[in-house]
This record gives sequence, C-alpha cells and structure tokens, in this order.
Amino acid sequence: MSTTQQNVALCKQAQDFLARDEQQLLIDGERVPAVSGQTLTTVNPSTGEVLARLAAGDQPDVDRAVLAARKAFNSQWSSWTPYERQALLTRIAEVLDDRFEELIQIEALDMGAPASRLRGTKPALMKMLSFFASQAGNISGETLMNGIPGSVTTMTLKAPVGVVGGIIPWNGPLNSQFWIIGAVLASGCTAVLKPSEDASLSVLRVAEILHEAGTPAGVINVVTGLGKDAGHALAAHPGVDRIAFTGSTETGRSIIQASTVNIKKLQLELGGKSADIVCADADLDKAVPGAAMGVFANSGQICFAGTRVLVQRPVVEEFTERLLAFVDTLQVGHSLDDAATLGPVISQAQLDKVLSYIDVGQAEGAELLCGGGRFGGDLASGYFVQPSVFGGVNNEMRIAREEIFGPVLSIVPFDDVDEAIAIANDNEYGLGGAVWSQNLSTALRVVQGVHTGTMWVNCYGHIDPLVGFGGTKMSGYGSKGSSAHMDTYLYTKRVYIEL
Ligand code: NAD
Repeated sequence: MSTTQQNVALCKQAQDFLARDEQQLLIDGERVPAVSGQTLTTVNPSTGEVLARLAAGDQPDVDRAVLAARKAFNSQWSSWTPYERQALLTRIAEVLDDRFEELIQIEALDMGAPASRLRGTKPALMKMLSFFASQAGNISGETLMNGIPGSVTTMTLKAPVGVVGGIIPWNGPLNSQFWIIGAVLASGCTAVLKPSEDASLSVLRVAEILHEAGTPAGVINVVTGLGKDAGHALAAHPGVDRIAFTGSTETGRSIIQASTVNIKKLQLELGGKSADIVCADADLDKAVPGAAMGVFANSGQICFAGTRVLVQRPVVEEFTERLLAFVDTLQVGHSLDDAATLGPVISQAQLDKVLSYIDVGQAEGAELLCGGGRFGGDLASGYFVQPSVFGGVNNEMRIAREEIFGPVLSIVPFDDVDEAIAIANDNEYGLGGAVWSQNLSTALRVVQGVHTGTMWVNCYGHIDPLVGFGGTKMSGYGSKGSSAHMDTYLYTKRVYIEL
C-alpha cells in the first residue's frame, strides 16, 4: 500500500460554505444559532485540524425544530398532490446533479472518504431520488370485502405518519440522508434531521439546497449537536411520530427506550459483523478484490462490511497470498486526493478504537499479516490506519465477534459449507453477508442457511432502492428501499362507509 497527498482544488461554493464562522441549525427554512449559543468543533480527519464550528443543539432547539416541522405538516404541504411531490424530487435531483462536486468536497473534508470514491456514488444517489419520485405516485390502499349486513363499503387509505426524526451516522451522510429525505418528501411527512456531530456538514448544506430547489420551509429541518443532547431530545420528543435511525446497536437500544414516551414507529439500521464466505471453488480473480473491498471500502466504516472472511481450507493459502498482494495496491491518502482509494477513519476516538482491536487480535493469538499501525510522514497527523489483515482467526476471538468499524479483515478458515454457515450464524448481528462459489447449489444453500438481512452471491455491496437492504437480529429492523421502506412513513386508516 502506498500513500498520496491532496491534489483537488476546492470549488468556490465549498470554500464559501466552509468559510462561515459557524454552521448554524436550519429550522423553518432559516439558519439560526443554538438557543444556548454553544458550539462544537468538527475536524478534518485527514489532517486532524478543526474544519468548522457547529451549533450545539439541545432540547430547546429540538423543540423549535419539531414545532416548525409540525406546522409545516399541517400547512399547505399536506395538500401537495403526488405529482407535485414527485416534481419536487425530480427538481432536487437536477439541482444535486449540478451541485454534486461542491457536496462531495464538503463531505470528503468532513468525514474523510476520498472525493474520488464519493464522485462514484452519484449514480446511486440519482437512482435513489428517482426511486422516491416514483414512490410519491405509488401510495395506495385497498378495497376490501366485508361481512357486514347491508351496504357497507370498506377500504384502507394510507396517510403520512407526520413528523419524522432522522438520526444519521457519520460514515456516509451525503448519500444516506436521502433514505430519509426521499421518503419524507415522497410520503408528505416532514422531518427533523440530527446528523452525527462528527459529520454534519453535508446534511446542513443539502438542507439549504433543498430549500433553494423549492422545498417549503419547515418540511426538512436540521439540528446539529451531540447524540446524548440533540439526538436523545429528538428520540424522546412527544411531537415526533417516527424515528429513522442508522447507527450503532448500543445507541439503537437507547433510542428504543426513549421512543416509548409516545410509542413512536421506529426504523433501526444498526451494526454488523458480516460473514463473507469464500468456497474452494470460488473464482478467486473476483473473490479476492470483492472480499477485500467488502472490508476496506470507506476504510472499513460500512455497516455491512464483510469483516469475517471465511475461507475454505484448500484455498486459504492462495487466497491469503492474493489478498495481501491486493492490499499492497491500495492507495491511502488525503480525502481531497484523486489518487486515494482509502482515506482516514473519522476521528481520534475511532482511530484509538481500531488500533486497540488490532492489539486485542494479536493478544488473542491471531497472526497479523499486514498493516496494524498508523501512517507516518504526511499522513501522520490524520486518523489513518493501515489496511490490516489477520490470519488464523477463530470465531471465538473478539476481532471476529465485535464490530471494529475500521480497515481490519479477519481470515477464518473452514472445512465444509455447513461449518461455514454455523460460523456465520454464530454472531449476534445479521446485516450483510456473501458467498463466493461457482456452484449455484452451494451458493443457494449458504444464502438459505445464513441468518442475515442481505446476502450477495459472487459480489459484495450492491444496493438498489427497488430491492432494498436491511438487517435482522441485533442489526435492527425495517428496510431501506423497496415498498416496505415507504410503508414505515405511512400509517393505514381503515374506512367503513355505510351508504
Ligand atoms: P452512533 O450510534 O454513535 O451515532 C449515530 C447517530 O446517533 C449520531 O447522529 C449520534 O449523534 C446519535 N446518537 C448518539 N447517541 C444518541 C442517543 N443517546 N440518542 C439519540 N441519538 C444518539 O453511530 P456512529 O458511530 O455514528 O456510526 C457507526 C455505527 O453505525 C456502526 O455501528 C455502524 O454499523 C452503524 N451503521 C449502520 C448502518 C446500517 O444501515 N445498518 C449504516 C451506517 C452505519
């Protein structure tokens, strides 16, 4: 692996946005400071330098934002036709298409993903917006038979749930916020978004752009701040009808507790420790880069990362050799560097966590085959971790059981497919997973046997909104994408009409 340096010049709009003294909350279409006047700093993870000051929102700010969202929900917005909401989503897609470079530069500086990688996510974002635009006109109830004497017609109607609280993690907010925004605009709900304190900027900027594109004031509001303050206030707020949360299982648990105040509907997309199963008959030309990038993409900060790479014994040696050669080709660098394939992890805390897991792996007796430390030289002040591979891992080790959320891959050998399925299932999470085999029967046996929300065969990480993505077990519930996604932004009204 080699390292690279910043070579992308910031565009004027990104520069102007980042030059602001303080990034304020966006409530009812207005930029406002936190009621307390307090701010937080956010850091560029490629350099460790302060990037911006964020308003430190808390309960009073959440109160204001929820009120604005409620007012908007009860306003003219509720009478927008599906065609009008669809047209808004189409217009937003056009504006984002134009402004994408500005947004990826902000995101790259804020959360560390290489701009080159983010640039490649544009088609996925456009597909998501197109999916939600199509959903605006696709909300339907049913007419139902009934056994009531006389002339009674029965049907169901679907209606927007109301105010949605969207709590967003730091590992890719530019795109992931649209799972919430898209469904809110398609369904006619309104929202208060609480981005991660470590990566709020693209959410703030997008909200401003949404208003410029014609989203009515109060429909999308953003309150930045700490999870324990602004996040908790949102999850517990009696004026919020539904929470869409993506983040860790631990935080998910506290959100469930907070949500009991008014029995909110919840959609929880939580952590993972996915198994990526490489059978002896796999096409290693595809399986090696596929499994490697299933872990190292976004520097391992992907919820469905296939960090437990289960390899069938006859090919462990060849797979490992090829994997190490592949890792050697990875370019780690500043997020504003077109040559970088991998950036830093998000924060000092995350860096410490990942490095401590590398120590744990070695102490547990796993063999560190490459990586294991930070980068020196020009990257020394950023939160860079060398892509790291452990061999000889067994499923009892903590590095095989716990979510590391960094560029650390564990190779776990297995003998037969039943053993691989058993190892895959021996974990509390159930988010992603894959199998690599040229035999479709073997692949389907694994797909059927592994208890997880999403499985890939001979590939890793495709997500299409038409198909959806979601977890089971401690990885949460609810779908991102598919009609099931829209359903959770709606409630069902049963109607009896006596003529
Ligand atoms: P996190 O749980 O620490 O934070 C997520 C969000 O919750 C942040 O906005 C944070 O401020 C907020 N928060 C923290 N404490 C809160 C509280 N008590 N009440 C309300 N909100 C609170 O997660 P993270 O570190 O930002 O992200 C990494 C985690 O997210 C990993 O576990 C990863 O697997 C998971 N994740 C899951 C998916 C998925 O689709 N399943 C996608 C991305 C990330």
